[in-house]
Amino acid sequence: MADKKKFYLSSITERLRQLQAETGLSDAALAALSGEQGLTPDQADHMIENVVGTFALPLGIARNFVVNGRAVPVPMAVEEPSVVAAASYMAKLANAGGGFRASTTEAEMIGQLQILDLDDIEQAADALETARADLLAEAAQVDPVLTKLGGGPRDIEVRRISDSPIGPFLVMHLIMDVRDAMGANAINTALERLTPSVERLTGGRALLRILSNLANKRLAKASCRIPVDALTFDEFSGEDVRDRVIEAWAFAAADPYRAATHNKGIMNGIDAVVLATGNDWRAVEAGAHAYAARSGKYTSLSTWSKGDDGALVGELEMPMAVGVVGGATRVHPSASAAIELMGVKSGRELAEVIVSVGLAQNLGALRALATEGIQRGHMALHARQVAVAAGVPEKWIEVVVGQMVKENHIHVERAKEIIRNLKAEGK
Ligand code: NAD
Repeated sequence: MADKKKFYLSSITERLRQLQAETGLSDAALAALSGEQGLTPDQADHMIENVVGTFALPLGIARNFVVNGRAVPVPMAVEEPSVVAAASYMAKLANAGGGFRASTTEAEMIGQLQILDLDDIEQAADALETARADLLAEAAQVDPVLTKLGGGPRDIEVRRISDSPIGPFLVMHLIMDVRDAMGANAINTALERLTPSVERLTGGRALLRILSNLANKRLAKASCRIPVDALTFDEFSGEDVRDRVIEAWAFAAADPYRAATHNKGIMNGIDAVVLATGNDWRAVEAGAHAYAARSGKYTSLSTWSKGDDGALVGELEMPMAVGVVGGATRVHPSASAAIELMGVKSGRELAEVIVSVGLAQNLGALRALATEGIQRGHMALHARQVAVAAGVPEKWIEVVVGQMVKENHIHVERAKEIIRNLKAEGK
């Protein structure tokens, strides 16, 4: 989906029309995306408690994303400037190497059941392991819809927690394939259902029964390969940009202080799409950071390296518990429209796009930080908005933006003055 019509220079109405022309989006979905027919206070009143209204955020569309060969417009709900522009630009660079390749594991979530007051931990663990098939069959009864769709309970794992402030105890993990939902409700209901059986089998007392957000059996992975030629800009050669990106990544790989900010940059993109599609971004955040610390040392979620052909190769793997059904995904009109716009049919397909956006966002931050610094990009975006507000004709936008940034004087009056000068020069 090339940006032939300069999407970023269009009006909101023009952008909406262009999106509809590109995707065949329904009028209702278009109205929901625009905010005109978004979440009403009445709908909100049924979602949470003590509602007094709704809260809006800007919704932008990241352009140029091609994931597994399919062009996808990416809705992003985010308040931070530059996020949507950086994602779109990096997706364009990735297209020089064929776009993003992405994959997911099965949508297997983990539910935890804590078992206390055990006389003999080993005996209790054995009893659970022996009853594995019966426990799985019992758990399968809670959500026949899920079972019919090919999902449902997959495994039981027993873990011994020996080093805890209250002494040793057991934890039973229930692994469940939750298909196209985030899955918290199916997991939590199944755990409650199993509680009497687990207490009977172990002779212990069940305390917590809750989903784990460290969804390390529900991973999404994206990769991209950017030829060095595509990385060249200003005075920087493609090789130089590639090597600087790898050096910047190495900092995050080695140092948790940098890794936290590096991963925050990844989450700038991920959260924006998770939020726009009505998914639980706290769950995705929790999973991301817990996964980043899985070795015992908090580190980068992504890796960047030099490919055999000299290309810049990026990879991002992380838990991605998102759905296209359940939670707010269908209840919130704008979320449902965002999913329709993306044309994703399954939770896994949505996860594949989201992790690609995370990788693009990561590259945007690394490239800017390791070359020109992020302020210049911010200034250029700001200058562009000022130029548009000053009524600068499209053909002169780049010139006016360039001049204002160079002078470090970004103002509507200055933009108008530059235009007057250009006209006076007969341009
Ligand atoms: P849900 O219960 O609203 O919907 C999921 C159900 O939809 C399934 O159980 C199934 O019965 C049905 N379904 C129909 N078609 C399906 C398909 N194709 N694939 C899968 N299921 C299908 O949604 P949910 O995903 O269980 O709930 C998510 C909500 O739970 C989120 O809002 C989240 O905030 C909340 N939550 C999160 C946590 C946590 O993260 N620790 C804990 C509790 C609740």
